[in-house]
Amino acid sequence: MANQDDQFKKVISHAKEYGYIFQSSEIYDGLSAVYDYAQNGVELKKNIRNYWWKAMVQLNDNIVGLDSSIFMHPKTWKASGHVDAFSDPLIDNKDSKKRYRADVLVEDYCAKIEAKIDKEVKKAAKRFGDAFNKDEFVATNGRVLGYKEKIDSILKRLGESLTNEDLADVKALIEELEIVCPLSGSRNWTDVKQFNLMFGTKLGASAESAMDLYLRPETAQGIFVNFANVQKTGRMKIPFGIAQTGKAFRNEIVARQFIFRMREFEQMEMQFFIKPGTQMEWYDFWKENRLKWHKSLGLGEDNYRFHDHEKLAHYADAASDIEFKFPFGFKELEGIHSRTDFDLKAHEAHSGKKLQYFDHEENKSYTPYVLETSIGLDRMFLAVFSSSLMEEELENNTTRTVLKLPAVLAPTKAAIFPLVKKDGLPEIAKQIVEDLKWDFNVAYDEKDAVGKRYRRQDAAGTPFCITVDHDTIDDKMVTIRHRDTMEQKRVAIADLKDIIGQEVDVKHWLKRM
Ligand code: ATP
Repeated sequence: MANQDDQFKKVISHAKEYGYIFQSSEIYDGLSAVYDYAQNGVELKKNIRNYWWKAMVQLNDNIVGLDSSIFMHPKTWKASGHVDAFSDPLIDNKDSKKRYRADVLVEDYCAKIEAKIDKEVKKAAKRFGDAFNKDEFVATNGRVLGYKEKIDSILKRLGESLTNEDLADVKALIEELEIVCPLSGSRNWTDVKQFNLMFGTKLGASAESAMDLYLRPETAQGIFVNFANVQKTGRMKIPFGIAQTGKAFRNEIVARQFIFRMREFEQMEMQFFIKPGTQMEWYDFWKENRLKWHKSLGLGEDNYRFHDHEKLAHYADAASDIEFKFPFGFKELEGIHSRTDFDLKAHEAHSGKKLQYFDHEENKSYTPYVLETSIGLDRMFLAVFSSSLMEEELENNTTRTVLKLPAVLAPTKAAIFPLVKKDGLPEIAKQIVEDLKWDFNVAYDEKDAVGKRYRRQDAAGTPFCITVDHDTIDDKMVTIRHRDTMEQKRVAIADLKDIIGQEVDVKHWLKRM
């Protein structure tokens, strides 16, 4: 656990030191669970958003984009169920006065058991050496099976109590498992209560006439209320999708995990409208499709797993999370939800407007079913950033810190250096920057020895460094160094665009899907 904490701390401090993420309003001591994206962070975030948009909207001729407002008519949230049911079960520790999400306390307890399984696996791997078969070990070892059974039975009971809104049983479970407050170490808990996560605000000039509004807690409802407009004006035929990215706001109770759980965050959501009865086919399709998208980035095949929900939200008939191995363990990165016709029907009932689709092939109208894919952009950022940050031992017994961001997402694609700050080398280097900047985000750096400049760019995640030296003046060749392999090659200035393009173009990456 200590190791995980250390790794996570490194991620947070590296994100600050290299201009990726700052605490919001830091000069006023910050605002809890709100963060700002700095000069490199904004580029990485934009690149992730583009990577999603390209795959989702531009490469699918039956999916279109949307950018709906953060403010929506308040009836939206009554219809969607958020006013009545968008709450988390919370529990307070009477000694530390700290507030927790009851379900998260139980899940963290299970994560500790999970860590014990990992330990057993590591021990066995050491013992058996090359002959070790992890899958077989996990499927047959008595101790591991015991741990797994325990996790399953705890999560099953938690799921059932939450579904039945049996909050007393959630508390009983916490007591039976003897879960202590991480701060006070005590088991002096209050009862479990529900707490609504929406932020309220007001629209209008005078107190009497002002209308109560909510900041949207998800982008999905903006898609549902525009369903008929988009379908008609885009002449969309089922199956089709509407996608959007944008800010969402939740008054999270437990907001202590950096950008994993924020109060203001960004979502990338797609609602896919389908014929009723076909939802399970599409559910499987989108689960697989989204996992392929993640894997195309090469962050490590073992870093993903599906978690099928025991407890289904009020709108869903099936739901699964793609979980990612964050520095603090496997946690939800994206949700794939079969939302039935819940949302369209609810908006139809609350607005009195027809939200149906006329199917020319079947010659009848129906309310489409919906398959949703919903991913947090900030969580995706954390997944990319944390799994890319590594400390590498080098042959000469030194170490380097390197941020091996997928080149397609890296904020700066290449840094261009003059070997020395004289003899006309800076001018050539600056000319290369001028030429490349139309195609890629590039940087110029002339300060310090070249070795130091390499290290700086490694840590910032720049895939290429290009050095101009005295030979360049005659042969128009430069040295290009690759961040990951540290391999250096002499190449023509005229070929730089192609060489960099080969590695950073979205096309090459998304074709792996
Ligand atoms: P969790 O169980 O972690 O609270 P959720 O199930 O409430 O998440 P959804 O409502 O399904 O999340 O939202 C879809 C996605 O939005 C999540 O998979 C996650 O990536 C992202 N997300 C949700 N809440 C937050 C948050 N507070 N901060 C950052 N990202 C979030």
